[in-house]
Amino acid sequence: MNQTHYFLIIPAGGSGKRMGSDAPKQFLELDGKSLLQHTLERLHRLPHFTRIVVAAAETDSLFMSMLQNLPTDLRTRLVVAPGGAERMHSVRNALLALQDEASADDWVLVHDAVRPCVRTSDVEKLILALQDEPAGGLLAVPARDTIKTADATGYVTATLDRSILWQAVTPQMFRYGVLKRALDLAVQTGCQMTDEAAAVEQLGLPVKLVAGRSDNIKITWPEDLLLAAALLTGQAKEH
Ligand code: C5P
Repeated sequence: MNQTHYFLIIPAGGSGKRMGSDAPKQFLELDGKSLLQHTLERLHRLPHFTRIVVAAAETDSLFMSMLQNLPTDLRTRLVVAPGGAERMHSVRNALLALQDEASADDWVLVHDAVRPCVRTSDVEKLILALQDEPAGGLLAVPARDTIKTADATGYVTATLDRSILWQAVTPQMFRYGVLKRALDLAVQTGCQMTDEAAAVEQLGLPVKLVAGRSDNIKITWPEDLLLAAALLTGQAKEH
């Protein structure tokens, strides 16, 4: 039987509109390194990945200078795919960059460039939990706050049952063939998917949730950067 391979995709093609800064948020710096570099160096510590694909604009000077700063053993495992208009296009471009190397049953883990605090132990937990899944799944955090829906004028329309709500985070891990089919369909139909799982759900396949730690935050607003700095410092002291 052929061995199953693991590939890592880091979508880093966003413009960071919500952050309100000049640089796309994956290039904001913490301790002299961009968020993307923190994320890459952390996940590169895992021995699983045959190849790491970053989807980003090669014309981006911030990206090109970051590439020069990466350790050589990481650079040799890395390929660059073009960033796309939306996150799902960036991920699909990264899948296309793997088409000669990946088999349909191989695993692809997609992780946001802007989640530098992810713990490698959570990624290992995800990989182990999904071994026998036909399609895959994702790290998720049980909702901690009560979630409400609102109308356009800012009034509450409903309060949701918190006990069944999960916050989807990354990595999201799917078999190559499943994710390719799901994103091909999403692009063809013009559906806007904000994560990979949503595209796989559209195929009617089972998507498993694996409980992850809540410190795997996504840097979205300026105040998140302070929080990430504190988390990285705290995590470094644990080792
Ligand atoms: O915008 P959002 O917070 O959902 O971005 C999550 C991740 O997707 C980021 O790492 C961002 O760089 C990436 N992204 C991308 N291509 C886009 C938009 C977002 O690779 N067109």
